[in-house]
Amino acid sequence: SYWDKIKDALMDEIPASRFDAWIRPLTAHCDDNGLTIKVPNRFFLDGLKASYGKRMTELTASLLGKETTIIYDVDTNLAAAEETSQPKSEVVKTESNVDGYIDPRFTFENFVVGSGNEFCHAASRAVADKPGESYNPLYLYGGVGLGKTHLINAVANELLSKNNTRIAYRTGERFTNELIQAIRNGSTDAFRNQYRKVDVLIIDDIQFIAGKDRTQEEFFHTFNALYEVKKQIILTSDRSPRDLTNLMERLRSRFNWGLVADIQPPDLETRLAILSSKAELAGIQLDKDVAHLLASRITNNVRELEGALTRLTAHSTLTGRTIDIAFARHVLRDLLHEEVRAISVEDIQKKVASYFNINIREMSSSKRSRTIAFPRQIAMYATKELTSLSLPEIGSRFGGKDHTTVLYAVRKIDAKRKDSDDFDEEMDRIMALLKQ
Ligand code: ADP
Ligand code: MG
Repeated sequence: SYWDKIKDALMDEIPASRFDAWIRPLTAHCDDNGLTIKVPNRFFLDGLKASYGKRMTELTASLLGKETTIIYDVDTNLAAAEETSQPKSEVVKTESNVDGYIDPRFTFENFVVGSGNEFCHAASRAVADKPGESYNPLYLYGGVGLGKTHLINAVANELLSKNNTRIAYRTGERFTNELIQAIRNGSTDAFRNQYRKVDVLIIDDIQFIAGKDRTQEEFFHTFNALYEVKKQIILTSDRSPRDLTNLMERLRSRFNWGLVADIQPPDLETRLAILSSKAELAGIQLDKDVAHLLASRITNNVRELEGALTRLTAHSTLTGRTIDIAFARHVLRDLLHEEVRAISVEDIQKKVASYFNINIREMSSSKRSRTIAFPRQIAMYATKELTSLSLPEIGSRFGGKDHTTVLYAVRKIDAKRKDSDDFDEEMDRIMALLKQ
């Protein structure tokens, strides 16, 4: 059947472990009208569709020689059980209040607060309570998969639940594309007006507009129009305003007018809490040891943590095996393996800088005062110890320093550790902190 051909094609295209997790266990029915795929639950369905839905549709169409949509058949028993385990939001959203897609699953209730995100969470709460009055704009930034999109959707969901708030929600990319389209169609006035009549404008991944002059110009005017009448603006980015290169100065300064809050990876305890919350939402039992394995190995990205859980669930549902340590190690071998070496120079620099209360930029500066130079030497030493980088590579990551400078630092810290027990102990603490 052509389902086998689709599977063959996918096997060539995607990594074996992903194929094993998502495609191999599927059963499907196919005829000339199209393809019906059986999936165990909604949780699995979401993941499957997001990763391979589009590709499977393309393959089906090309094999059948015509456009079709794939039908996903969710096992209703399982789906019903899941339905009841998910806290339903009682909110009925009036479509007309929302322009753009707001994900109903991303709520404050589903967001685990812990180290790394508590500041962003509190700021988002404040904005949801008093839009336009507390922090405007609210600018959240941080690495990928840490909960920024979740938080701004939570703000939107909260606002929609209690007020008659009109919200426009866009990604930076979509904002840009719509503008290009509007320019092409000669409908820039309409483009502008749609944003001027909202109470809250949310742009996810605003970094996308950097380097795009016309988009920035347009966004600048929208920003001003809304800001003047105290309408709330919420932005997320992967970088701080300062680090957004190719951003117009007038926008950069505006991004700093309200509150700029950064989100950091969660600590172990928070990762465990997130896992347990996600497992509960999915209606699955997660053994303590397995949770610990995942949380201690997947440290920098909540989305990956969640992905690991999805994969475990999928495998377990489809093979009927219980999720124990051996099973988890096997199913997630690629992920867990990767995470072992996931200590980065940036991480080390950031942590050492914050430990000594200096700015991370000093890690790359050439200042020689002891308050700066000493932490920098410690960071170089730690980089040598904890990564596989060579001395010249380390030098270049610290603002283009010569390898002899790095060598000097390593030797000096080594000698000092041998010299002083107090210092040696402190270094142990610092190194433990870095390995977290
Ligand atoms: P970002 O936009 O920062 O890249 P997302 O908001 O898309 O990250 O988060 C990635 C995934 O991790 C989402 O499924 C989100 O629900 C989840 N997530 C991130 N942080 C948390 C948290 N603190 N509590 C619960 N889920 C979280
Ligand atoms: Mg995001």
